[in-house]
Amino acid sequence: KDEYQRKPEWLKIKLNTNENYTGLKKMMREKKLHTVCEEARCPNIHECWAVRRTATFMILGDTCTRACRFCAVKTGMPTELDWQEPERVADSVVTMNLKHVVITAVARDDLKDGGAAVFAETVRAIRRKNPFTSIEVLPSDMGGVEENLRELMDAKPDILNHNIETVERLTPRVRARAKYDRSLEFLRRAKEMYPEIPTKSSLMIGLGETKEEIIQTMDDLRANNVDIMTIGQYLQPTAKHLKVQKYYHPDEFKEFKKIALSKGFSHCEAGPLVRSSYHADEQVSEAKKN
Ligand code: SF4
Ligand code: SF4
Repeated sequence: KDEYQRKPEWLKIKLNTNENYTGLKKMMREKKLHTVCEEARCPNIHECWAVRRTATFMILGDTCTRACRFCAVKTGMPTELDWQEPERVADSVVTMNLKHVVITAVARDDLKDGGAAVFAETVRAIRRKNPFTSIEVLPSDMGGVEENLRELMDAKPDILNHNIETVERLTPRVRARAKYDRSLEFLRRAKEMYPEIPTKSSLMIGLGETKEEIIQTMDDLRANNVDIMTIGQYLQPTAKHLKVQKYYHPDEFKEFKKIALSKGFSHCEAGPLVRSSYHADEQVSEAKKN
């Protein structure tokens, strides 16, 4: 058996297969929308969609111009930009009666604006139709172009989330088309543009980083005024992706959380199943392979 199938006990999550979301899932297909909740076969879908009333949409298509080696999203030439997508997402937020929505997107390096215009319009459309829904955006670095970030920030999301993903040394291997410093700069600029909008970033661990490197990443995020940090276990989505180098024990996550809070983050979630786009107390399985 592959290494990635030998998971420690605390990662063995039973998928809830009884839930029936036929109606909502049908709506997603009809509206040509993608949710991370469905595509990652997240076991929290009942809790999120029905109880917490939160969901994570992936916009700008389902094909990414990048091929990060931890990510299961397909790579290739993306589809044409869809200017109706913002309204369809906003309508779905109404139908689902969401309290909090996370909007993420594939990296659109084929577009000069990195998809910023459609992204920003999605935030505005959600706001118009759902004034009480909090909106968290989770963009790629959008080419590291300041105007692209400004366009998105001007739509005034409630949280700007951008993932550092891994420590500096491993960045070229893990996310080849991204840069550690560029992500830090992206976060710093977002905070400079709108100091009142909280910034957030997520780190996956288990890719071969050291404890010192994890702590250094915390320091780097804080030095760039990031408010919220999440730390989760990397799980290999398929045999073609990077292998897990280490499964951290839940107690180690607790320790990281303590260290992060001592560094001045206003909030830190750390745990084996903590994921970036999930609400603080939500947990998720890397259900792809189950
Ligand atoms: Fe969706 Fe995230 Fe909730 Fe899973 S944890 S159902 S991906 S919002
Ligand atoms: Fe996946 Fe995002 Fe990397 Fe694209 S940029 S491969 S969606 S992590």
